Amino acid sequence: MSLNTQIFIAAVLGVVFGFLLNLYPDTAFFDSSIYALTILSSIFIGLLKMLLVPLIFSSIVVGVSNLQAGGQFGRVWKITLICCLTTTTLALILGISSTHLFEVGKGMDISLFKEAMNQHQTPDTLTPGSFLTNFIQNTLINPFKAFSEGNVLAVVVFAFFVGAALVKGGEKLQGIRQLMQQFFNMMMLLVGWVMKLAPIGIFALLAKLLSTEDMSVLSRLLEFAVVVTGTTIFHGAVVLPLLLWIFGKMDPITFFKGSRTALITAFATSSSSATLPLSMQCARDNLGVRPQTAGFVIPIGSQMNMDGTALYEAAAALFIANLIGLDLSIGQQVIVCLTAMIASLGAPGIPSAGMVTMIMVLQSVGLPAEAIAILLPIDRILDTVRTVVNVQGDMMISVVVDRYTKEPEVTD
Ligand code: ASP
Repeated sequence: MSLNTQIFIAAVLGVVFGFLLNLYPDTAFFDSSIYALTILSSIFIGLLKMLLVPLIFSSIVVGVSNLQAGGQFGRVWKITLICCLTTTTLALILGISSTHLFEVGKGMDISLFKEAMNQHQTPDTLTPGSFLTNFIQNTLINPFKAFSEGNVLAVVVFAFFVGAALVKGGEKLQGIRQLMQQFFNMMMLLVGWVMKLAPIGIFALLAKLLSTEDMSVLSRLLEFAVVVTGTTIFHGAVVLPLLLWIFGKMDPITFFKGSRTALITAFATSSSSATLPLSMQCARDNLGVRPQTAGFVIPIGSQMNMDGTALYEAAAALFIANLIGLDLSIGQQVIVCLTAMIASLGAPGIPSAGMVTMIMVLQSVGLPAEAIAILLPIDRILDTVRTVVNVQGDMMISVVVDRYTKEPEVTD
């Protein structure tokens, strides 16, 4: 049986087992199952996290130095940026439109959520200004600190500089360049080993998530959950494949077949960062993206390009406004979109990261930050689908960028 099939079966079994466990919460079987699932999922996630920082570092160094040496760096960078901004903007428009269309939250009884809101501690104010200062202060730091703390964004920035220096250094730094290339190859070999554990890890992660979810809260917020999830799926199943087809000249079936290991892992882990090793492998080995493009675009995308998160944050802000009976003006909705874009750029690729940066979106138009307490209980469930679309966007952009940089004569 192929690894892809094993992963698919594991995901289905994990969901079913999780639901069954959820029905019998106070039993000894439940406790021992959760214990075993925690151990299994921790091993899988732990291994992925172990690879993450050295993989990102070596991949970007090698990517930047190869691209710069080939004179393609500027082009790759520009196309990546254009793709990220375009897909995120489309996601935001979709998020806002669907919330309006279905009037999610209008007429709902806010008192249902009073208790949740009272229990919630208001976090510190997070304005776009302070966010930018924090962003700079957390990014330009001692690289060893960044490595040891797993500060991915800071690692990305340092890797950029090292890659550029290797190109400038030319012949003199040839040895380090080769070393980095070999180090990167070794990391990809390790990724292949961890992938063999993916079916077990994915089973455990999904079973654990569903067995501990409070289904009664979910049913109260069902309308919002369905609209956001449906819109996110529409973005991932229609908008992105269409763009890929037009600009990447790749049909959706080839794309989904080649990327499904990474997509299922994203669903189970709710983490773009943890999925990164697999997204890179899928892009290189199954989607035919050149290693230097995948090695550059995907790590950057996993940090900066989050369509699912942007869509969710914009839709959630409107939902909360509807819930408290506030009509946001067009101007305010534009602010929501811009802040959601910044928030998705800054959100790290970890579970529920979008929930934290959403505070900034709410505060940008004067909505109470405490309102996130309403969404917190269902966030982990919604996170699964938005992370899939985040990861899908990264792989898709790598295909498009690769095509446009491989064939310079293509002008459409
Ligand atoms: N979990 C998402 C990701 O890793 C981020 C988010 O919370 O929206 O891509």
